[in-house]
Amino acid sequence: MRNSIIPVFIPHLGCPHDCVFCNQKRISGSLLPACPEDVKREIEAALSICENAELAFYGGSFTAIPIEEQRALLDAAAPYLESGSISSIRLSTRPDAINEEILAFLKEKGVKTIELGSQSMCDSVLAASWRGHTAADTEKAAEMIKSAGFNLILQMMTGLPGSDFEKDIASARRIAALQPNGVRIYPTVIIRDTALADMWEEGKYTEHSVEDAVELCSEILPIFEKASIPVIRMGLNPSDELSGGDALGGAYHPVLGEMVQSRIYLKKARELLKDVKAGESIVLLVHPSCISKMTGQKRSNINALMAEFELKELKIRPFDVKNGEIMVQRIAKEEIM
Ligand code: SF4
Repeated sequence: MRNSIIPVFIPHLGCPHDCVFCNQKRISGSLLPACPEDVKREIEAALSICENAELAFYGGSFTAIPIEEQRALLDAAAPYLESGSISSIRLSTRPDAINEEILAFLKEKGVKTIELGSQSMCDSVLAASWRGHTAADTEKAAEMIKSAGFNLILQMMTGLPGSDFEKDIASARRIAALQPNGVRIYPTVIIRDTALADMWEEGKYTEHSVEDAVELCSEILPIFEKASIPVIRMGLNPSDELSGGDALGGAYHPVLGEMVQSRIYLKKARELLKDVKAGESIVLLVHPSCISKMTGQKRSNINALMAEFELKELKIRPFDVKNGEIMVQRIAKEEIM
């Protein structure tokens, strides 16, 4: 038995806007909004394989749904919460769909965690992405959610229309300043049948490539780490729909998070190797769980460092160092095996 999340998708339910990048029906792989029976069925199905599971309403903007529909969905979960079969409830919503009354209602229904789609903290980017709310809305909602005692997760996106490297870094800093309990980072993916796909095809939007996202997120991740804020997701969850052609372009890659971690290792190694001389043989010692991050996909980090520093040889070995730390050993050629 394992602890787990029971996801229930409420695609596009309650959304007063159509954000340019969003086609929730495709992201969730589901065309119909969930109903109370679906909630019960999902919980029952999950209980046979996991315990202490958390019910999660993802997809649309939960708190923008008519209150009676919110009540019906939450009431369907109530018996399981009361019996301890599920541990808690989380949901995602928009910053402008939060107020004191809604928060009191969610508290009464046992919701513990609220995820807010902040996406950017730059108003011009929010406007260009048709979000329909401002950065101030996010700040106000975040404060209300924390003051009411909920866990707060903030979602941000990189590479949105009208954004650039500096604006995304500035957004990450403002989000970190709100001290959420966690962050999800979603670099923009161009999904079929969205306004963004039209903008891209018309040449009005420049794609945020996988490489753009990896480089940018390798700068953003340390901002959250420094503020002791866990980054609980980087990149859209891979799905058959997205991998099968619905991701037309942009930063869609099944192992984007791993690529970002590898880039961070590459940058750290670069700093440490600044003083090595061409022709030297080097061993990089990392925590045993970090060998693949240091190596990079298809040995990309090893190849890049070998070429950049004109090394004779570069090996990566497991060692008793902290996760994230790298030690450099300069050794004679005959010692390397
Ligand atoms: S608010 Fe969320 S669900 Fe609604 S259109 Fe925007 S991204 Fe999609």
